[in-house]
Amino acid sequence: MGLKVYINGQLYDKADAKISVYDHGLLYGDGVFEGLRSYGGKVFRLREHLDRLWKSAKAICLKIPMTMDEMTQAVNDTIKVNNIQDGYVRLVITRGSGTLGLDPNRCSDPQVIIIADSITLYPAEFYEKGLQIVTVSTIRNHPAALSPRIKSLNYLNNILAKIEGMQAGCVEALMLNHNGEVAECTGDNIFLVRDGELLTPPVDSGILEGITRDAVMELAREAGITVKEKTLTRHDVYIADECFLTGSAAEVIPVVKVDTREIGDGNPGPMTLDLTRRFRELTRR
Ligand code: PMP
Repeated sequence: MGLKVYINGQLYDKADAKISVYDHGLLYGDGVFEGLRSYGGKVFRLREHLDRLWKSAKAICLKIPMTMDEMTQAVNDTIKVNNIQDGYVRLVITRGSGTLGLDPNRCSDPQVIIIADSITLYPAEFYEKGLQIVTVSTIRNHPAALSPRIKSLNYLNNILAKIEGMQAGCVEALMLNHNGEVAECTGDNIFLVRDGELLTPPVDSGILEGITRDAVMELAREAGITVKEKTLTRHDVYIADECFLTGSAAEVIPVVKVDTREIGDGNPGPMTLDLTRRFRELTRR
């Protein structure tokens, strides 16, 4: 049996799961999404993802045509029907099919899409040895233009940065904000360790409020580590003892080189390894 995709309350075979070419999600990137993980058939922090989805939708004046409880049920049903244990869920709400003009009021009905599948973002080797990343010249969206807190279908800012990173031979890239401060990577939040403290840019630096980021900060605090949300510069990254990234798809992944500078001794550091272990335990609880 092939993969089933949920669209507006119905399940379709993957090959038949289609939406209109007039959908403003396609025409203009007008919509919002979430990427979630399931572990042992249970979605990790589903409520937090739905809260963020609803907030993203609110910010773009998009009304999600169902309740959070109905969405919870739909996500769980889609995972179940596809027999997903450890997998990845993509939740997409588009503006719906409309006319060939920007006006969102001329779109008929938002489309709710749920894809439950598997994902391998990076090869296992990167988790063991750590990533090498570069800072790219594409800055993160100015919050007054398109807030990075909105997880919108318009991901070109991140894709352009990713292309730059890949051209430099890296699978992930560091993005600065409009003030030249460290923001985040193209699909992951960034953390540094310095003098035993865990540092990460605040939301004000123009980042997505990552759910994995929140989980890791909680775990660190539980472990007695001082956690600071602090404005960071590239210099802070270069002189850090450790660096790692977090994201639903990436989970926790060490970074060992940034712009050709070795971070710490060039190996994944002890706090990174400890928090990785704690995160794994949390997801398997
Ligand atoms: N920043 C960006 C730009 C992202 O796309 C993601 C992945 N959704 C993250 C950070 C990490 O967020 P989360 O931990 O909620 O997946």
